[in-house]
Amino acid sequence: MSIKKVLIIGAGVSGLSTAIFLKKAGIKSEVFETFPYTRVEESSFRINKSGVNILNELGVLDKIKKNSHSADSLRLLTTNNNELAKFNLMQRSSAFSDRSIFMKRSDLIEILLDEAKQLGITINSHKKLIKLDQSENSVTAYFEDGSNAEGSIIVGADGLNSTVRKQIYSDSQVSYAKSWALYGVASLDDMKSEIATDLETGDEMIYVDQNFALFLAKSHPTSDLNLSWQVSSYNERKLPKQDHELKNEDIIKKDLITNFQITGPLKEIILKTKKIIPKQLHTVTNLPSFSKWRAVLIGDAAHGINPNTGYGSTIAMEDALYVAKMLKSYDFHDAFYFFEHDRKDRIQAIQQLVETFDLSKGFDLSGGFDIGLFSGSTFDQNYKLKWNDQE
Ligand SMILES: Cc1cc2nc3c(=O)[nH]c(=O)nc-3n(C[C@H](O)[C@H](O)[C@H](O)COP(=O)(O)OP(=O)(O)OC[C@H]3O[C@@H](n4cnc5c(N)ncnc54)[C@H](O)[C@@H]3O)c2cc1C
Repeated sequence: MSIKKVLIIGAGVSGLSTAIFLKKAGIKSEVFETFPYTRVEESSFRINKSGVNILNELGVLDKIKKNSHSADSLRLLTTNNNELAKFNLMQRSSAFSDRSIFMKRSDLIEILLDEAKQLGITINSHKKLIKLDQSENSVTAYFEDGSNAEGSIIVGADGLNSTVRKQIYSDSQVSYAKSWALYGVASLDDMKSEIATDLETGDEMIYVDQNFALFLAKSHPTSDLNLSWQVSSYNERKLPKQDHELKNEDIIKKDLITNFQITGPLKEIILKTKKIIPKQLHTVTNLPSFSKWRAVLIGDAAHGINPNTGYGSTIAMEDALYVAKMLKSYDFHDAFYFFEHDRKDRIQAIQQLVETFDLSKGFDLSGGFDIGLFSGSTFDQNYKLKWNDQE
């Protein structure tokens, strides 16, 4: 039952990482992606320590270092610029591979694409999966352009709206996660305030209020668009698209400032922001398993981690390493079983983080600051996966 070829659907963080790890395992794979890669200046994401460790295992850490920012402290402020607390992120004396970082998604994708190409991995674009068939010996993927591809197994790394997931579990759903978000991109050079200097030199910041949390971080050491912010706010009922996703950017800025009474340096940052991407948050529900026969789901396709956890890309890369590692040692039935068995608790604990501590609800500071706001997390913050257990 040896694996001749793995079909990977999606050239995002999880798909590209899986292809690179499978190459390390000596397993042939081919990646199929709907869109040809074009650089988009989007917002950025946090990659936690465990994710940075995986980037080390992928062999791309030097490039990551040149394209990311790692802060030393996190400051907690009110929307009218009163500092509530400053936390040492306990990173100062650690090696880079042990730090948490912030970087642009496009930089990460470009580094992974480059690595995959150097390893001779085939990445096909304009290949939108529309259907898959599984048989006794193989799986066939059918694409929108009329072509198809055959492999031994298929990895659904095709994100939150995964077609692989819909094909194998048609009852699974993408459910509204009760908060809206805005992702902003700006340039620190445009800002005159002191907090711009603090962001430049080593602080991350969270501005909070009731039902409001706005996170700010530098995301690149040299690029012009080096400031990234994201705000999320709890909202029981989904917003109509015209009031969020389709809203004019200037009105978004004006409403944000007015509704949350934002003043001073934060107001300057919002007004000088160059691009804002509005999203409403969603997660995957009603999924009986991460796999079915010859198909396995990883990353957002499997669990759609709430971005408010700050763990989406980290978990996607952990999934990639682990599924490839299991396929290196076991037949695919066992590999998929072990993947789900060994990863599920970790994923659930991270998902539960938003149940115990949902950043989009902000902090109700009317009764004063309480350290209990930060309690309730149950996952292991020192979780570390190794590609080679002998090392
Ligand atoms: C365009 C984009 C921008 C994002 N920006 C941010 C951000 O600014 N901040 C943040 O925190 N997170 C962002 N994310 C989400 C973040 O990348 C993911 O949460 C995380 O990295 C998990 O990655 P993933 O590889 O599982 O899924 P994704 O990153 O969603 O990648 C899935 C890939 O599969 C492809 N695909 C989907 N359907 C098909 C199909 N039928 N056939 C072939 N290919 C398909 C998609 O085009 C995409 O490239 C973004 C995701 C995308 C796709």
